[in-house]
Amino acid sequence: MKKIYGPVPSWRLGRSLGIDPLSTTEKICSFDCIYCQLGKTKQKRIKRKFCVDEKQIGKELIAVLNKKVSIDIITFSGTGEPTLASNLDRIIKTIKNITDLPIAILTNSTLLNNQGVKSALMKVDKVVAKLDAWDDKSLKKINNPYNTLKFADLYKGIMNFRKDYPGSFCLQMMFMKEIESDCDKLAKLAYKLSPDEVQINTPLRPCTVSPLSKKELDKIKGHFKGMNVYTVYEKDKPQVKIFDLSTTLIRRPQI
Ligand code: SF4
Repeated sequence: MKKIYGPVPSWRLGRSLGIDPLSTTEKICSFDCIYCQLGKTKQKRIKRKFCVDEKQIGKELIAVLNKKVSIDIITFSGTGEPTLASNLDRIIKTIKNITDLPIAILTNSTLLNNQGVKSALMKVDKVVAKLDAWDDKSLKKINNPYNTLKFADLYKGIMNFRKDYPGSFCLQMMFMKEIESDCDKLAKLAYKLSPDEVQINTPLRPCTVSPLSKKELDKIKGHFKGMNVYTVYEKDKPQVKIFDLSTTLIRRPQI
């Protein structure tokens, strides 16, 4: 399977060239979110794993950049939680040796307290960290985490990471009927993290959960006063020229 896909039109990142450091046919993640566009988590784990050699990613990246595709940013995402790739730091170094394009990562935040992950992420320009829950019960209901994961540790991990991270720190929050009435709790947690931006999302891609409307998200946004916040309905998606559709659809079933 190819490791690089897109560029995908991202409402929060622009023309985003995806790097999948797991590149697996079975989703590997420490969560099994009720809204995941990739379906059920087949390999739920918290221990990091070597999946793809960084040299392979480097070769693919050079080939893609030679195609002169328009790209705004390189983004780690793909077939699961990208921080689970044990060689993430070497992959980042490889990319930085090839291009000056900014690098972002979409993470579910569960490994932000891991020293190896933390030091790797210090080198990327933008970290988009997931926060959908406010206690163990809501974490179980929405994200269905690996069995040893506790909300207090997860939040502390985000907090400690945020204090040290020099780049652009963004929170991604997914809202749906199940937690709509609890947005105040999430807004308070977000406020304490002092993020550079808060991205309010709702499941618009195919999954088993229904999305909230623009009106409902606007109401939720009102709880995040004083923060740099926007919703998925406010941002336009850029035009992109995808270089390999089948490789992209594996990671992004709906573009
Ligand atoms: S963290 Fe991301 S990849 Fe993992 S289950 Fe949730 S939505 Fe899917």
